[in-house]
Amino acid sequence: MIILDGKKLSDKIRENVKKEVDELQKSGTTPGLAVILVGNDPASAAYVNMKSRACKEAGIYSIAHEMPDSISQENILDIIHMMNKNPNIDGILVQLPLPKHIDTTAILEAIDPNKDVDGFHPYNVGRVVAGLDGFIPATPYGVMELLKEYEIDPKGKNVCVVGASNIVGKPMATLLLNANATVDICHIYTKDLKAHTLNADIICVGVGVVNLIKEDMVKDGAIIIDIGINRLENGKLVGDVDFENVASKCSYITPVPGGVGPMTIAMLLENTIKSAKNRKQKA
Ligand code: NAD
Repeated sequence: MIILDGKKLSDKIRENVKKEVDELQKSGTTPGLAVILVGNDPASAAYVNMKSRACKEAGIYSIAHEMPDSISQENILDIIHMMNKNPNIDGILVQLPLPKHIDTTAILEAIDPNKDVDGFHPYNVGRVVAGLDGFIPATPYGVMELLKEYEIDPKGKNVCVVGASNIVGKPMATLLLNANATVDICHIYTKDLKAHTLNADIICVGVGVVNLIKEDMVKDGAIIIDIGINRLENGKLVGDVDFENVASKCSYITPVPGGVGPMTIAMLLENTIKSAKNRKQKA
């Protein structure tokens, strides 16, 4: 069994991003990212901190707009419009989930698709589905890079994606389909999850349920990508896979932490650089 080391690969990508930022700066372009955080969810605040710190380390200029839970949709839209117009900002990221009184779709659709480094705007969603160049959502993008690093080609493989959200499962399934895998997409209403996972050469799970994927649901030699992040009562972070019992059956597996999580941050930086390069080209 081989551990898919997302920490190691993400460090390599971030080193590379730093070099690219240096090059861009020499030619007068400093990449910039605006992060919008609404409310006081501790997990969201922690993610925003991690992203801001990663930007700083890479030399990317970043602004964090932190707003109270009570803020109106109009106020958030105003900030997005301001960031759309700001020539120093290449990427705009709204940390999800948003409070219930905010229409998430309206917020995401307000972001200039050319600055949509999260890849959640329907314009980029469509481009990625069609296999065209666009911003790829950072988490599934990170998974694809991890597979590439370990020379795992999804072509012709049976893949089971468990979880079908717009930010994780659906784009994950899309990228794997575009890489010529045969993809099963499972979700909360799937009748017999085990029947799907047992047929899979690769299982990608991003659900948010501790120990959802157990030993008897995995075939020998399968490749396991655990996207889930769950915090146990004792503070420990775990994924959606019963790692201890599943790992010995797999050919490859991602750990949590140290697997997909760090890759997500690295790919967000990569998308921000891509956007900055586009800006430079247009100038
Ligand atoms: P979500 O709640 O939006 O979606 C969850 C999905 O899982 C839904 O499609 C739902 O139908 C499905 N699901 C729920 N219970 C299920 C079950 N028992 N069996 C099968 N399917 C089930 O969540 P999300 O935003 O997609 O996040 C999913 C997980 O991925 C969370 O643990 C989140 O923390 C994690 N995540 C990790 C990263 C990362 O960088 N590693 C990034 C984003 C999200």
